[in-house]
Order: sequence, then structure tokens, then C-alpha cells
Amino acid sequence: MLCLRDVTYEVNGRRIIERVNMRFKEDMTYSILGPNGAGKSTLAHILMGVVKPTEGKVLLDERDITQLGVTERAKLGITLLWQEPARYDGITVKEYLTLGGKIKADKNEIREVLDLVGLPYELYAHRFVDKSLSGGERKRIELASLLLLKPRYAILDEPDSGLDITAGELIEDVLEYFRKVGTTVILITHHEEIAAKTDFAYFVCAGGLLKKGFSREVVEYYKKTCGRCFLTGMMEDGD
Ligand code: ADP
Ligand code: MG
Ligand code: MG
Repeated sequence: MLCLRDVTYEVNGRRIIERVNMRFKEDMTYSILGPNGAGKSTLAHILMGVVKPTEGKVLLDERDITQLGVTERAKLGITLLWQEPARYDGITVKEYLTLGGKIKADKNEIREVLDLVGLPYELYAHRFVDKSLSGGERKRIELASLLLLKPRYAILDEPDSGLDITAGELIEDVLEYFRKVGTTVILITHHEEIAAKTDFAYFVCAGGLLKKGFSREVVEYYKKTCGRCFLTGMMEDGD
């Protein structure tokens, strides 16, 4: 289980995350739902070790991993799909997916994950992951690389952003795949229809946890309150 315990994060004297508690259990899919600027990407970065909390802890199976960086956490099976996809000049899609051959995957496995993200193997496997690919295509390729990796935890920061209208179906397929291989998904989004596809949801606003529960219930609450959540002042605490 991956946990945030009483996590606070400040930058330039500004409190961006305020005493947040979250738990991510095995074999469950979660969403972190909230409007723009709520602190969702910051939570993703804290989980991945991109930034360290000012106060509080990050725990993995009761082990304190707060001070571990991105590479060490990746070795523990924690992965992040970045909100902004990167480019890698001179690396083909196939090389990128297999981390230059470090991941043992045969052609069929590569074909399966590329198919799942809507990119035909013949058209994409030998393309370069550079600016000749659109942002949406690069995002799909990064998603395929997480699928192939089958990590313990996959944090997906707005996987639907930059994708076209087929994104909803794609996210459903991705969740189904990760459920099958036993990856715990933490899906970050500001779209309630995307959040509704996971089992459990956390609703964050202004850096605090406003509500948690089964996704359906949280999504109902989000629809009612979104945009006015600053005024409710109803911070839910604890785990
Ligand atoms: P979200 O992903 O929910 O849209 P973010 O986590 O990216 O939100 O940002 C939360 C808030 O923290 C925003 O108001 C953002 O402007 C602010 N923020 C994030 N990083 C920094 C930083 N390095 N310096 C100042 N403010 C920041
Ligand atoms: Mg955002
Ligand atoms: Mg964000």
C-alpha cells in the first residue's frame, strides 16, 4: 500500500498542499479529481519523489520512502505518466518502449500495448519519439510504455488531456488492462466522467482533501460543488 500521511507542501512561502492523507491499496483503481490549480500534479510529484513534502510522510508498505528520489521509487515499482509528454530525439518508439532493450518484450507484446493505445505497430514502432509526433501521439506512446512495464503503481496525470474524443474509451481500456495485470492506478483528472471509471476517488481542492469515497459518490459531490469548493471550507481529514 502507498500512503500520503499528513503531507504538506510549501513553495516560495505558499502552501500548495495542506495536510493531505491518502491511501492507495493493491488491486484498486483510484482517481484524484479536482479543478485546475487544485494541487493534483503536485500530489503526483510528491508520490513520485519529484518533490519532497515540507511536512508529512510518503509510505510504501509501511516503509518511509519520503526521502527517496524518482529513480529509487521507480525501482520500487512506482511510475508516473507526466502531464506533459517528453521527446527523445534519435530513439524509436520500439526502443523507447523497451527502455533500449532493458525490458524483455517480444513483438506481440509491443503490438498489444501499441494497439491498446490506438497506434498500429506497423505505422509507429519504427518512428522516432521526436517532434515529428504530435503531443497526443507521444502521450499514447508514454501510456504504452507504462502498460508494457506493468508497474506496481501507475500514476497517470491527466492521461486524457491532449487526446481526442476517443480518450474516454482509451482510459477504460487502460484501466481494464491494469486491473488484469495487478497494477494499482492513480488517475488524475478534472473530468468527472473519467474519474467515475475508477473504483475510489479523492476530491482535492485548494490543496486540501475535500471528499473521498466510491467514485460515483465523489463524482456526484464534485458536480454539485465544483468551483465553489473554496467557500465550503469543509476539509475532510484522516484516512
Ligand atoms: P493541478 O495539477 O491540480 O492543476 P498543480 O499541482 O499543478 O495543480 O498546482 C497547484 C497550485 O500550486 C497552483 O496554484 C500552481 O500555480 C501552484 N504551484 C505549483 N508549483 C509551483 C511553484 N513551483 N511555485 C509556485 N506555485 C506553484
Ligand atoms: Mg491541471
Ligand atoms: Mg496538473
